[in-house]
This record gives sequence, structure tokens and C-alpha cells, in this order.
Amino acid sequence: MAAKEDLAERACKLFAGPIDFLKSAPGLQFLPDPTVPEIAFAGRSNVGKSSLLNALANRKTLARTSNTPGRTQELNFFEIGKPLQIRLVDMPGYGFAEAPKDMVKRWRFLINDYLRGRQVLKRALVLVDSRHGLKPVDHEVMDMLDAAAVSYHLVMTKADKVKATELATILAKTVVEAAKHPAAHPDIFTTSSETGSGIAELRTAILEATE
Ligand code: GDP
Repeated sequence: MAAKEDLAERACKLFAGPIDFLKSAPGLQFLPDPTVPEIAFAGRSNVGKSSLLNALANRKTLARTSNTPGRTQELNFFEIGKPLQIRLVDMPGYGFAEAPKDMVKRWRFLINDYLRGRQVLKRALVLVDSRHGLKPVDHEVMDMLDAAAVSYHLVMTKADKVKATELATILAKTVVEAAKHPAAHPDIFTTSSETGSGIAELRTAILEATE
């Protein structure tokens, strides 16, 4: 228990300290040297990924919100801590209905290459809109993570947008579906970037995954 409290406190301090954008990597040759543990963020376009990154970092504009869906095909790296302790990796959003086929293909190659070759990648967070639950395209990404043996947490976003009873129903269904994926961690986080609920818990989980 004391260790858990200590972890939460250290996570709180870490995320209150320096957090900076490092670079955008459009291909594997542009990745930073693998010297620091990484946590990757994945999710359908508009799921609230940029907002969540900003909420975690307690900044308004660290990650750009509402990117044109399907446009960015880059891995964006953010650095936390001085001395540097963790890199957060913002993966391009997916599941954009009108995305051209070759763009989807490029996305797959980039993500697969990154997931399979990155030893410093300690965990992925797969963001799921609390109103909608898991979609087929989320399962595809979860399959990719399973195949690459990258352990991941599901993170429900925009929890403030649904009633508690609805949220409980969607969450229960998500737990059942997640159990079918070998690399999915049983702990699912529920967050709101709007109210800040679940953000501290997620910071703690991020730190824990890197230690
Ligand atoms: P991204 O495309 O996944 O990066 O999604 P954004 O972070 O740009 O969010 C998409 C939209 O959802 C924006 O209009 C955000 O203001 C809104 N949004 C994101 N997170 C939340 C949240 O926790 N609560 C509410 N109510 N709206 C949110």
C-alpha cells in the first residue's frame, strides 16, 4: 500500500515537471534512440487522444487537438522528466471512414514496424470513446498489439459524456471483449479530460509500466 501511494505521488510530481515535444517521426529511420521507456497512445480519430495527452501533462497545447482525421501519419514523441524518464508516443489516429486505402496501408506498416521492433515500448494505451465502446477497427489494433506481444490498457475517454449507468454497461461489455485479447491488461481506466477524472490514476499506471 505504501509503495502504491509512493508511486502515485511520484507520478504526480513527474507529470507536474518538464514535459516537452521532441519530434514527429514519419518513418522508423526517424525514431529517437531507444534509450528511454516509451508508452504509446492509440485510438480512433476523434477519440480524445490529444485532449488526454494534454490532460495528463496538465497543458493546454502540448498535443494538437482535432487534427484533420487521418491526415497525420507520424509518431509524435513527448519527453517527460529532467533527467529524462519517459517518452510518450502519440500514434496517428485510425478508423477514419474516408481515409484512402494507401493511407491505411501506410498506417499499418508504420505502426506494425514500430510495435514489433521497439524494445523500449513498455505499454500501449488503446483509447475507447465511452459513448461507443470497442469498434471492429479497435479490435484490429488490439490484434496487432497481441501479435506484437505489446501489453496494453484500454482507456475509456470522455466519461463525462455518458450517464453512470450507461458507462457501467459499456464498461462491463468492454471487460468481456478485452478478456479475449491475450495482451490486454485486465485493468481498464475510465477518464475524462474535461473533468480530470481518472487522470491521476492513469499517470500512476504509466509510471508503473515504465519501472
Ligand atoms: P483526437 O482526434 O483523438 O486527438 O481527439 P481530440 O482530443 O482532438 O478530441 C476530439 C473532440 O472531443 C474535441 O472536440 C474535444 O474537445 C472533445 N473531447 C476530448 N476529450 C473529451 C472529454 O474528456 N470530455 C468531453 N466532453 N469532450 C472531450
